[in-house]
Amino acid sequence: MSNYFQTFNQLPIHPIITKMREIAYHQQVPIINDEGLAFLLFLVKTIKAKRILEIGTAIGFSAIHMALVDEAIHLETIERDPVLVEQAITHIQEANLASQITLIPEDALLVDVQQLKGNYDLIFIDAAKAQYQKFFTKYAPLLASSGIIVCDNLLFHGLVAGEKEIESKNLRHLVEKIDTFNKWLTSNPDYDTTFLAIGDGMAVSTRCKR
Ligand code: SAM
Repeated sequence: MSNYFQTFNQLPIHPIITKMREIAYHQQVPIINDEGLAFLLFLVKTIKAKRILEIGTAIGFSAIHMALVDEAIHLETIERDPVLVEQAITHIQEANLASQITLIPEDALLVDVQQLKGNYDLIFIDAAKAQYQKFFTKYAPLLASSGIIVCDNLLFHGLVAGEKEIESKNLRHLVEKIDTFNKWLTSNPDYDTTFLAIGDGMAVSTRCKR
């Protein structure tokens, strides 16, 4: 984000958030960047989201931010890494948000969707980038009729748009998968999607009303 704008987009200040930023930095846990976060919180406020599903909790950074928007929000968030699950649970408790956030410690591709509340105002997809099409296909049916799906990291540090040289074969494969997902999403006739060069590249999808 431009340093000039960053001073205007005031993100919440909370001791837990400061602690999570430090943990993410020192343990190199990927969390949403400030520009993406400001936009995500803008969406949560604008659509007055009350029921949120997040795929990819990590240490609870984005989940806690979204829950802090309004105490009427209930958020379910899925994380498969047991070490991160423990950390996220601690942070959620320290932020006194245990009544608002339900952490599901499972692989999102294996979760039985019957156990979820459903009818989500917002679904935030921020887990393994190579699996986005599977996450989208699996969880989109749980969206409320006027809900939105937000996908993060679709530019993947500028690599997907070919702005940087990719040396590693694995990374090139991942970038190709994200590119394939972006093309699949834009041509998906059931969803109207807007791609934005915000944060690390985000897409906002709504269900087509027909
Ligand atoms: N949303 C978090 C934030 O901004 O604070 C960051 C999430 S981090 C980018 C992605 C997380 O997704 C990682 O913690 C990873 O373990 C988790 N993840 C990846 N694939 C997953 C899957 N299939 N099911 C559940 N979690 C998954």
